Amino acid sequence: MNDVVLTGDRPTGPLHLGHYFGSLANRVRLQDLHPMYVLIADYQVITDRDLPGEIRRYTTELLLDYLAVGLDPAKVTIFQHSAIPELNQLLLPFLSLVSVAELRRNPTVKDEIAHSSQSAVNGLMFTYPVHQAADILFCKGTLVPVGKDQLPHLEVARLVARRFNERYGEVFPLPEAMMGAQPLLRGLDGGKMSKSRGNAIALSATEDETAALIRKARTDAERLITFDEERRPEVANLLTLAGLCLGRGPAELAGEIGDGGAVTLKRVVTEAVNEFLRPIRKRRAELAGGDVRRILAEGNERARERAVRTLEEVQAAMGF
Ligand code: ATP
Ligand code: MG
Repeated sequence: MNDVVLTGDRPTGPLHLGHYFGSLANRVRLQDLHPMYVLIADYQVITDRDLPGEIRRYTTELLLDYLAVGLDPAKVTIFQHSAIPELNQLLLPFLSLVSVAELRRNPTVKDEIAHSSQSAVNGLMFTYPVHQAADILFCKGTLVPVGKDQLPHLEVARLVARRFNERYGEVFPLPEAMMGAQPLLRGLDGGKMSKSRGNAIALSATEDETAALIRKARTDAERLITFDEERRPEVANLLTLAGLCLGRGPAELAGEIGDGGAVTLKRVVTEAVNEFLRPIRKRRAELAGGDVRRILAEGNERARERAVRTLEEVQAAMGF
């Protein structure tokens, strides 16, 4: 089958190591193999906060992060929700294909509600996974490189595609998630590393900022460093992080650190992360002065053409 790749990020802050090992590394690899769409999910920002905030700045930051890790706009269509009204039109019929009970039991939505600062949960929080089905299906996406938190949303997209095809005739292929080397990288507090939870190491952080963040990371009082995900999740996560950056196994690293304690562990992690990110940060700094937003104008145009065609097909299938 000829795969089409679709994935994306919310413009809520700079991309971090969780993105890299969860999704970005796969994107860079897949861009040479398949047509690829990368979405800056700006409407999704207002699921868990009242205002979009510094959305323009964060959109530019995302573009810089994409280019710095090696996404090539000549191969990849980078676009924004807010530029493609056809996505919102696809949302309406898609909403009719899922039940309220199905929307309510999505575990990622529940987790995001738990971390939200809003006093009340808004309607978009429950319906954005269906909007995301439109994001994936508008380009007939089949491969979706994402982290583990996205698996419930992929199930929604598959459900929507399957039910649409059953009711109206075969239009959509069923998309599949593609996991990266680390489907769930934990942050420095032990929870999911997230842009909006203050626990992330940004790809764009300076070496000193990185060192300061890792210095504050939670560990435990045991001097002998061992890789034990059950009993010592924070230490295990730091070992995992260093291992990913060095291309080595976390247990082997633990053996080398031995009774060096948290101080040695953190030094090893800091050096590994800074070394790994150095070329990415260098490229990012070189790009920062240029006009990256023109990439969006081109990507939006291409994505919109695709979305118009799919919407026409959907409306025809439904008999509108
Ligand atoms: P926010 O806190 O604003 O939701 P985020 O860090 O969760 O930001 P998203 O834009 O929501 O980032 O997610 C973009 C992509 O990165 C998704 O595919 C998601 O699965 C993946 N991803 C995010 N965080 C991690 C992580 N800690 N480990 C692995 N993959 C991740
Ligand atoms: Mg998120």
